[in-house]
Amino acid sequence: MTDAVPPEIRSRLDDPFRELAGPLAGARRLSFTVAASERISPAVHEVMLTAPELDGFGYQPGQDVMLLVAAEGARPVRRRYTIRSLDRGAPALRLHIVRHAGGPGERWVRSARPGDRIEGIGPRGKITISPGADWHLFLGDESAMPAIFAMTEALPGDADATLVIEVPGPADEQELLAPARTRVSWLHRLGRPAGDRALLTAEAAEVELPPGAGHAYVLGEARVVLAVREVLAARGLPPGQISAKAYWGRGRANAGHGEPPRDA
Ligand SMILES: Cc1cc2nc3c(=O)[nH]c(=O)nc-3n(C[C@H](O)[C@H](O)[C@H](O)COP(=O)(O)OP(=O)(O)OC[C@H]3O[C@@H](n4cnc5c(N)ncnc54)[C@H](O)[C@@H]3O)c2cc1C
Repeated sequence: MTDAVPPEIRSRLDDPFRELAGPLAGARRLSFTVAASERISPAVHEVMLTAPELDGFGYQPGQDVMLLVAAEGARPVRRRYTIRSLDRGAPALRLHIVRHAGGPGERWVRSARPGDRIEGIGPRGKITISPGADWHLFLGDESAMPAIFAMTEALPGDADATLVIEVPGPADEQELLAPARTRVSWLHRLGRPAGDRALLTAEAAEVELPPGAGHAYVLGEARVVLAVREVLAARGLPPGQISAKAYWGRGRANAGHGEPPRDA
């Protein structure tokens, strides 16, 4: 049983999140224990996390938890992962974390074993389903798959959703069971590096934008998110109908508070 950051180090951290105030006033500190940890496809690792504070825990589909994955001297290193689902019976959170070439978050999940402990803060995040949209269009890479699937599953049966998801290859496709009318397009990188804009921008230029006031959700690598948002804007989608969020920056580590570098 390993602590991602042992309590004696945690108490000495210069921690901007010592108090949960401002935008985090509604979030809880969660004392997670790993209940299960398994690589479910070449690129995706699933962890189940339990915590006493999950009793009565509420969140919106698309929201995330921030994990204290490491400490660098007195500096906490946190990473954000979308809540794929919550098993209220256990209770346990399910996260799907990308296995990439390596960073503190990836190193933590690679070594995570049942019984390991890690501190979390959540729920976080502002992007969730836009109520009343005539249709929903989701574009993202495998890091966005948990958010895209969680939000799509939450749509009612008479909603229309189009999902465009870039993954390394067919082995990383996942099955989606959702009540909404859903079309999924899988884009395969087939050996090309993650974080290249070509596939998602090409699809954003071609994908059908049905009549009515729909909403697009664009999540993933920072420069790709920017480029896809520009393509959709050029096709006439107003800013208020696009929710875009950079999850990671190609070739650049996220900051200690979990966000990609601003200029990524
Ligand atoms: C709100 C929010 C929700 C998120 N939800 C999820 C989620 O559910 N699942 C998930 O896997 N990620 C998610 N992310 C992204 C995740 O927090 C980042 O990918 C984070 O950078 C990973 O941290 P790390 O320590 O492994 O790598 P870092 O230290 O940040 O980066 C180290 C190196 O790894 C590269 N890298 C980082 N992420 C990836 C990637 N996905 N693919 C390829 N290379 C990468 C970087 O370019 C860098 O070169 C989310 C991010 C945010 C902001």
